Amino acid sequence: MTVSTGRVVIITGGSRGLGAGIVQSYLDSGDRVATCARSSTDEIERWTNDPATAGRFLFRAVDLSNREQVDAFVKDVTDEWDVVDILVNNAGVARDGILALTPDDDVDTVIDLNLKGTLHISKLVSRRMLSRGSGHIISISSIVGLSGYRGLAVYSATKAAMDGMTRALARELGSRGIFVNSVAPGYLRTEMSHGLDEGQLDQIVRRTPAGRLGEPADIARIVQFLTSPDNTYITGQTIVADGGLTA
Ligand code: NAP
Repeated sequence: MTVSTGRVVIITGGSRGLGAGIVQSYLDSGDRVATCARSSTDEIERWTNDPATAGRFLFRAVDLSNREQVDAFVKDVTDEWDVVDILVNNAGVARDGILALTPDDDVDTVIDLNLKGTLHISKLVSRRMLSRGSGHIISISSIVGLSGYRGLAVYSATKAAMDGMTRALARELGSRGIFVNSVAPGYLRTEMSHGLDEGQLDQIVRRTPAGRLGEPADIARIVQFLTSPDNTYITGQTIVADGGLTA
């Protein structure tokens, strides 16, 4: 793969789990990385203080469901580095439970972050990309947006909507040099999957042709390819990365 360095990359929710894996992969490529989450973590402190990454890593405590905070975050990044080459919409939240019993607050929390937060930061960043005539927007959706999952109706709805946004934005922005794709992971070993018990995880592994859960690095490699100079013709697509679970 062609390695290009020094790009400006925004990754939402990079404080842990998949987002942290994606942050690490772009820092390893020599890029400048900005991320946000509601609170900091040891990973964030490490990137902030390590001389190898300190000058090209920016973290802000931001609630992505708050538009003013997102506006200020994107402004901070562009004040610092002027441009945004890549946006990775990774931050997401799930609330388990059958829809009939789901509190309205939970519906709002999931939609406000996964859908409205993703749309808002994509709007701000795509404006900057339009003025330059280049860029990549990647959204991390999920196989449950394609196949559904009992107890995850609201989450599944937001993930399907993110794939819809991807297809529409790819049409809107393709002629202006901006590629838009989503990656739909299967089950990953992160905090989000801690809600699944051992029995459920064993069953998922048994049904997965690759014979294991996904790791953040499995997904980070795909995001890297899609945003690399080697991706000259894939846009508007949802790339499923689930070890064959939904094959
Ligand atoms: P995770 O471990 O729970 O991490 C979520 C990240 O998002 C954290 O950095 C979190 O930080 C941040 N975040 C949550 N709410 C936020 C808010 N309101 N504003 C700003 N940041 C917020 O989740 P993950 O497993 O890495 O998931 C990452 C993405 O992959 C999500 O979009 C998820 O839907 C998707 N995905 C995950 C799986 C899986 O099996 N884990 C499978 C398919 C797709 P704070 O809490 O400090 O804000």
